[in-house]
Amino acid sequence: MKQIYVGGRWVDGNSGETMPVFDPATEEILAHVPRGTATDVARAVEAANTAFEEWRWVPGVEKAEMMHEAARKLRTHADEIVRLLTLEQGKPIPEHEEEVEWVVGTFDYYAGLARTYRGRLLAPADRSQFNFVMKEPLGVAACIVPFNYPLLLMAWKVAPALAAGNTVVVKPAEQTPLATLRLAELAFDHFPAGVINVITGTGAEVGEPLVVHPDVPLIAFTGSTAVGQRIARLAADRMKRTHLELGGKDAFVIAPDADVESAIEAVSYAALLNAGQVCTATERVYVPQFMHDAFSAGMADYVQGLRLGPGIESTTDVGPMADPKYRSKVETHVADAVGKGARVLAGGKRPKSLERGYYYEPTVLVNVNHEMTCMRVETFGPTIPIMAYRDFDEAIALVNDSDFGLGAVCRTNDARLAKRFFEEVRAGTIWINDPLTDHYGGPFGGMKMSGNARELGEEGLESFVETKHVHWDFDDTPKDFWYPYGR
Ligand code: NAD
Repeated sequence: MKQIYVGGRWVDGNSGETMPVFDPATEEILAHVPRGTATDVARAVEAANTAFEEWRWVPGVEKAEMMHEAARKLRTHADEIVRLLTLEQGKPIPEHEEEVEWVVGTFDYYAGLARTYRGRLLAPADRSQFNFVMKEPLGVAACIVPFNYPLLLMAWKVAPALAAGNTVVVKPAEQTPLATLRLAELAFDHFPAGVINVITGTGAEVGEPLVVHPDVPLIAFTGSTAVGQRIARLAADRMKRTHLELGGKDAFVIAPDADVESAIEAVSYAALLNAGQVCTATERVYVPQFMHDAFSAGMADYVQGLRLGPGIESTTDVGPMADPKYRSKVETHVADAVGKGARVLAGGKRPKSLERGYYYEPTVLVNVNHEMTCMRVETFGPTIPIMAYRDFDEAIALVNDSDFGLGAVCRTNDARLAKRFFEEVRAGTIWINDPLTDHYGGPFGGMKMSGNARELGEEGLESFVETKHVHWDFDDTPKDFWYPYGR
């Protein structure tokens, strides 16, 4: 039985109860992890709080060295971690290799910032004065992580939090705690006790006690908009800092000048990566009217050629979904669309050839419109709804006709259209031609219902610091604007 990581030690959960972790490709149980409780949360927060009083004063260069060491250790054990991630999460091995490499890079990137990041100097208003802005840690950061990129989204919180001088309590998703626990064992053991803590369990029993704990001033959360809204409400009671990375409904616009064949490949990657379980997965495709039929037919052919199977097999292009409840949501969205007049050109069902596992076929839908759930609510599955547009004005209006604003893609080499797209579309990341590519220095996050924060880049540190202005005057004689007036 696994244990939780509290105060630098592996300990049993307080309740003694466990939760199964499933392999989504086989539906078999991989392991059991402790079902944490509020008591475990209290222990972890106490450990993190104690550690904070030391960690915050550790010089940046020393913090940086420990973070580089975590990156080095992870790289040494990458094969084992990739395998474990693939078993519990489901997406194909190359996607997990990329995820692990990104985690390594994230620790290295924020280690670099940890060396020097502290604030800035201001030009004073008077010769005798000295003004500077200090960036200070807040304390214990709760890092609550979803199932789709278990280590990456953990690293995007933990690395900046540590670099800024905070300590952390990590709560992995119910579906995917194993790689996080193993990572803590292999790569975090050299940090001072209590700087990093990991507690497994449910959102209600571990996540929420973390959110409301009075000694947790900062909640860094990636997950669904519904849970993000709940966290924001709970956090408001104590004016806690929230860093919320939420759902999306990303659009992909094919401009009139785009090449159809390469656009099909680009959309397929953007929509089907991780079986569509990417917050910035393409969930709506808009094509010029004249291109619609050729594009849709080509898309249907293309996705039918992709190989569905366990992520652990090297021949797999698209793995299972991570949980049967996510597959049921996809089925509901497809049924709603078909009920309202959409046509299924490919997929639209579970594969007959795979009896076990939470698979769903890559699905191409046409005749869709914005009255359908699949064009408005996050599907988070392998669906590609395609809609025709008359002109670029309409394309941009359709993209912006959404409650979400996480990312958006445009495929074009027409500079005027590209400029219109990145200026007029309301989304946190705009990709011209190369969808879903991240950049360590490029902030990632959403507008509207997609969240209130940014991860990566220097902006990725902002949620994890308090800002303090210090005004220092070297002249201690009374000021002539003090009482009595008219001095
Ligand atoms: P989820 O909201 O169900 O769960 C996310 C995490 O929150 C899990 O660890 C869960 O246990 C925990 N949780 C659940 N209820 C909680 C509560 N009341 N209090 C505290 N914690 C609670 O999300 P999911 O299904 O695991 O992940 C999919 C969602 O994540 C999608 O909506 C996707 O768009 C979003 N996501 C967003 C980004 C981004 O950067 N914007 C990235 C990846 C995923």
